[in-house]
Amino acid sequence: MIIGIDLGTTNSLVSYFTEDGPKIIPNRLGKKLTPSVVSIDENDQVYVGETAKERMILYPDTCASVFKRDMGSKKKYTLGHRTFLPEELSSFVLRSLKEDAEVYLGEKVTEAIISVPAYFNDARRKATKRAGELAGLKVERIISEPTAAAIAYGLYQSNKDMKFLVFDLGGGTFDVSILELFGNILEVHAVAGDNFLGGEDFTQVLIDMFMKEHNLKAEELDIKTLSHIRKQAEECKKKFAQESSSVMSCNINNELMEMKIDIDSYEKNCEILLERIKQPIKRSLSDANIKLSDIDQVVMIGGATRLPIIHKMVSKLFKMIPNTSINPDEAVALGAAIQGAMKERNQAVKEVILTDVCPFTLGTEVVREIEENRFESGYYCPIIERNTVIPASRTERLYTVYDNQTKIRVKILQGESRFASNNVLIGELTVEVPKGRAGEEAVDVTYTYDINSILEVEVKVVSTGKTERIIIKGQDVDMTDEEIEKRMQELSYLKIHPREHEANKLLLLKAERLYEESIGEKRKRLEYELLKFDSALNSRDKVKIEEARKRLQTVLDFIIDESDF
Ligand code: AMP
Repeated sequence: MIIGIDLGTTNSLVSYFTEDGPKIIPNRLGKKLTPSVVSIDENDQVYVGETAKERMILYPDTCASVFKRDMGSKKKYTLGHRTFLPEELSSFVLRSLKEDAEVYLGEKVTEAIISVPAYFNDARRKATKRAGELAGLKVERIISEPTAAAIAYGLYQSNKDMKFLVFDLGGGTFDVSILELFGNILEVHAVAGDNFLGGEDFTQVLIDMFMKEHNLKAEELDIKTLSHIRKQAEECKKKFAQESSSVMSCNINNELMEMKIDIDSYEKNCEILLERIKQPIKRSLSDANIKLSDIDQVVMIGGATRLPIIHKMVSKLFKMIPNTSINPDEAVALGAAIQGAMKERNQAVKEVILTDVCPFTLGTEVVREIEENRFESGYYCPIIERNTVIPASRTERLYTVYDNQTKIRVKILQGESRFASNNVLIGELTVEVPKGRAGEEAVDVTYTYDINSILEVEVKVVSTGKTERIIIKGQDVDMTDEEIEKRMQELSYLKIHPREHEANKLLLLKAERLYEESIGEKRKRLEYELLKFDSALNSRDKVKIEEARKRLQTVLDFIIDESDF
């Protein structure tokens, strides 16, 4: 069985394919979403998901989150007295999901399809693959998130060729992808996005409105009050999914402050954000050379697409109702499970060939003639432009720039800037050329970028036919199978917290946090219940534990209700 995994920045999901189609596998707590948070305690016990998220409040130094942003980099995360790479932290999340899948399916799971954002470059995709391998999974394929979403929506089953746009608005990022289906080929045409735009910005609008209405200043409020305001704003925002007006109420310094707001004025206040959303849409359409009116369908994924004002904007822009029939949190994972079934040649799914694009431009440095006979170096010459369908091969001819030049140096650069120095140097090649007048000798520079995101650069001297070649596999150094095996052994002493104790552990952590946040009677009450729960846990008597758990849960519910934590 090949499982599908959506390894998300905030939450991750695991899925599998059944006779009735793809399904999400619940985690050890019975939930579909597992927060992508990892924590390690002093006994080298690893916590993943909600329990780790809860530990984040009490023991922030032992926890890590949003490490997906650094995937493929060498950034070190310190948890307690140990350090980890982002891919190692991801491997803990994957290990936990793998375990959940094994228990749920009642069989060993060794293969997976893992999704990554479309803009992930080679180094980040490889790091994701390594994370899978460190978790003991053979990664059958890394799939782009928008492609997975398109597959989940069954767009690949269509009998007619079509173009569609995947609109992905998450908590902190916005991604647009344009895909085309022709025959059985599903091709990504262009990707674009804004890494600093997401659902949280729409929450911030409500916070700003509230602060203005009540004359509050962020710098005069403490962290606890600010997080209370954010939480209430988040609730208020979510109510718009069902109602055309909403109320935001906060308890600040023992005073109840309210703000009634209707959807129209909220929309007006979000105008700037809605405008920003249009930019990556425009860019992706222009990169793909597709007119807005040529888009046959818009698919919405990411939690923030539940906001009705987003719907309205998209409907107006594309003059059609976007497709939202699948839960926006689940589409990518479901698509990954279907891709798993395709790999296994399951008869229930039509097979499609997926293609991808190069998410950034690859080029070289050149000299440009600024005015007649005035040359300036340091300019960028794109060779394979961003969003070119891969595999791709392009050639550019470069000439000598001064008399009797004996060498031509080709810098291999990645980036979008007009100036070479603003782009990233990923390699270099030098070839010798026969002496001559400026512009007489030339080289043909050929860039070939393959499906595995490996770039090969060939430089051929036109007059002599002499050729030099270099292969660039991305910024990182690959690990061999032996190295992965060795690191796996090194990490194996770190055990994921036993699943049967997970719910109790989470409850205990929640109670400990409430204890820290309370004073007086509440604190005393909590201490009493915590002691009882501890002693029940120590007794290892299932009935006693269950009784104590229920009691503690009731007390917690009561206190949370009262204090609005
Ligand atoms: P994701 O990263 O895809 O999980 O998306 C998280 C974002 O979706 C957060 O900013 C949430 O506030 C937002 N979100 C989740 N549910 C809703 C809802 N019902 N209405 C509006 N925004 C939502």
